[in-house]
Amino acid sequence: MASDLRRLVRRIADRFKRAFYGPTFRCPVCHFVLAAVDADGNGLLVCPVCGAVLEIEEVYGHIVPVVLDMEIHRPQPKLRAHPMATHLPIGAFPVALLGAVALFLASLGARLGWSGAGFAGAPVVASAVLVLLVLSAAGAVLTFASGLWDWNFRYRRRTYRQIRLKIAFSIAFLALGAAAIALHASGAVFAASGLMRLDSAAGVLGGAAYLLILAADMAVLATLGHVGGTLVFGE
Ligand SMILES: [Zn+2]
Repeated sequence: MASDLRRLVRRIADRFKRAFYGPTFRCPVCHFVLAAVDADGNGLLVCPVCGAVLEIEEVYGHIVPVVLDMEIHRPQPKLRAHPMATHLPIGAFPVALLGAVALFLASLGARLGWSGAGFAGAPVVASAVLVLLVLSAAGAVLTFASGLWDWNFRYRRRTYRQIRLKIAFSIAFLALGAAAIALHASGAVFAASGLMRLDSAAGVLGGAAYLLILAADMAVLATLGHVGGTLVFGE
C-alpha cells in the first residue's frame, strides 16, 4: 500500500519534472539533477549545491557536462534564516491539517448519530486550527522572504528550475493558506460547536472546499520542503 502510493507519487513527480524541467543531467561532482535550460547563452551553468562550473556539450543528442572550475568564493550566509524559518510552516501546518481532519471525523460522527462523536473541546480545537493556519502563513511569508534573499546573494540570482518552482509554489502555498483562513474565519465551515456544518448543502460544500484546499496546500508544502532539501543536501 505504502509502496504503491510512493510509486504513484514518483510517477506524478517524474511527469511534472519532465514537463517543467525539460532535458536534465546530473552534476558530475555532486550528482544533483540540473535542467539544461538553465545554462546561459554560452552553455555555462554553476551547480547550486557544490559550486561546480559546468559547460554543457551536446554529443549525439546527449547532454555531456564538463567541469571547468569550482566556485570557491561563494557567499555563505552565517545566519541561515531560510532553513530556520521553514520550521514554522512545516511544523504548524500539518498539525492544523490533523486538527481539521479530526474535527471533520467528529462532525461526520455527530451527523450519523454516533454517540459521543461531538466533544466538548471541539471549539478549542477549531480555534487552535485557525491559529496554526495563521502561524504557518505568517511563517511562510518570512520563509519566502529569506529564500528570495538567499537566491539574491548565495545563488547570485542565477536561474534554476528548482528555484522557479519554489517561488511559484511559495505563492501557491500563501494563496491556498489565505483561502483556507478566510473560509475558516468566515464561519461558513464551522458552527459555534466547533463542528463542521454538515447539516446543510452549503455547509457540506464549504467543508469539502476547506478540506480540499488544506490537502492541496499540504502537497505544495511537501514539495517545497523536498526541493529545498535537495538544494541543501543534494540528491
Ligand atoms: Zn554539483
